[in-house]
Amino acid sequence: MSDPISDLIAAADARLGPKGVISDPADIAPWLSDWRGRIHGQARAILAPASTGEVVGIVRLAAEHRVPLVPQGGNTGMVAGATPPADGSAVLLSLRRMNRIRSISADNRLAVAEAGVILATLHDAADEVGMRFPLTLGARGSCTIGGLTSTNAGGTQVLRFGTMRALVAGVEAVLPDGSLHNGLSGLKKDNRGYSLDQLLIGAEGTLGVVTAAALRLVPAIAGRAVAWAGVDTPSGALALLRWLEARTSAIEGFELVPASSLELVLRHIPGTRAPLAGEHPWHVLIEATTADAGASIAAELEQLLGEALDSRIMGDAVIAASEAQAEGFWRIRDSIAEAERAEGQTLAHDISVAVADMPRFVVDATTAVERAFPGTSVSAFGHLGDGNIHFHVRAGSRAAPDWYEVEGERISRLVDDLVTAAGGSISAEHGIGQLKKAELARLDPDRVRTLRAIKQALDPLGIMNPGKLVS
Ligand SMILES: Cc1cc2nc3c(=O)[nH]c(=O)nc-3n(C[C@H](O)[C@H](O)[C@H](O)COP(=O)(O)OP(=O)(O)OC[C@H]3O[C@@H](n4cnc5c(N)ncnc54)[C@H](O)[C@@H]3O)c2cc1C
Repeated sequence: MSDPISDLIAAADARLGPKGVISDPADIAPWLSDWRGRIHGQARAILAPASTGEVVGIVRLAAEHRVPLVPQGGNTGMVAGATPPADGSAVLLSLRRMNRIRSISADNRLAVAEAGVILATLHDAADEVGMRFPLTLGARGSCTIGGLTSTNAGGTQVLRFGTMRALVAGVEAVLPDGSLHNGLSGLKKDNRGYSLDQLLIGAEGTLGVVTAAALRLVPAIAGRAVAWAGVDTPSGALALLRWLEARTSAIEGFELVPASSLELVLRHIPGTRAPLAGEHPWHVLIEATTADAGASIAAELEQLLGEALDSRIMGDAVIAASEAQAEGFWRIRDSIAEAERAEGQTLAHDISVAVADMPRFVVDATTAVERAFPGTSVSAFGHLGDGNIHFHVRAGSRAAPDWYEVEGERISRLVDDLVTAAGGSISAEHGIGQLKKAELARLDPDRVRTLRAIKQALDPLGIMNPGKLVS
């Protein structure tokens, strides 16, 4: 029997050929749930165009048949933004076949990559021309340029290079009416009104389909030094960062790690070792880099940390003596979430407040949450220098198996209220997707009204990623 979804799939089949339409339920199944495996959707097909022209054709067909599309890259997003609705009313639009790096130029300091290019592939390509794309994160082997752009992803180098908003020079995107926006020229100066590129960055696929992006490159790293330091408090950690920044411009990573998170990693992640001999309530992982082959970044960092120690800015520090040890330090930081999962149930919040307010926020919010929900414990870790902390609430050892489902909403409401009262954001780098939609509407109705007006203007038929952000 004919219905709009069947009609769309048949028309897409005629246009894209067999490689472009996946309709075997076994092949679709892995792409129907979010990365954390908590939200499940349904879709009768994955449409997988291989060129911008094919995306234009599919979006026009979707508009004609009034069938919504859910754009999807690597499906590593943290807020179920790429998970289709549970009622099967939409189809998935995978960009993974659009995986060409169209151009890469050290002279222009730009790469133009299609939406389906995996982040690690771009890193390798930049390396080959003596350059670097300075954004990285734990999912670099799976996440795509389209997904990173559409979530305005951050990661561990934001301190120096900014989020995708700073690194994307322009995008090519198919808008919901099937028209093409081409912003790939990478012009440094372009004042033709509203920035459509910036509107599409962080839009979570609700305003159009990103098909390619022009990405800013920086010179490749000639040397890096990685250190681990112990401090007494989060404000001591921020003081150390500011002290270092006043003396060098080489700091590009500065990650806060509480002692409780370090202990969990050492307990659950094989092969990890405590970097420092003594005990400290808080730790920081510091990375300094240089593009100057003649500079000794390790010697510079060592001297600075020695002076910081003498000035009692911090308790103790060690510099990684080898690449393997440097990787070992990063492994501790990158394994915190995995160690938490091994320990028990955890409720994750990705929040930001003004950088200077973060130390106090961490201490006060931890006390407030642990008092309101006895038995829980908070791990606040991550990008202190960006004012962005992963505020994770762990269930106690005696928590019920359904603690997450029963208590999760109440705990998150308290965390989100505390963040809002501090003038912060309930989503620093992961986006809103499905998971944060109700909280955004509760806490910031004026913002949601404006976002909805933009959505309505560009996508009056509501065919782009329904049920996400504001739709
Ligand atoms: C281990 C791990 C570590 C992570 N660390 C970080 C981190 O440090 N910082 C950070 O910011 N994020 C982090 N993330 C989250 C995630 O990697 C990012 O959100 C990433 O940008 C998602 O890319 P993706 O290709 O997987 O997108 P998907 O998950 O497929 O999609 C994400 C959103 O973008 C939309 N979308 C995807 N492609 C397109 C397109 N071409 N056009 C329009 N819309 C599109 C989707 O509809 C969805 O709303 C991490 C994830 C994991 C699993």
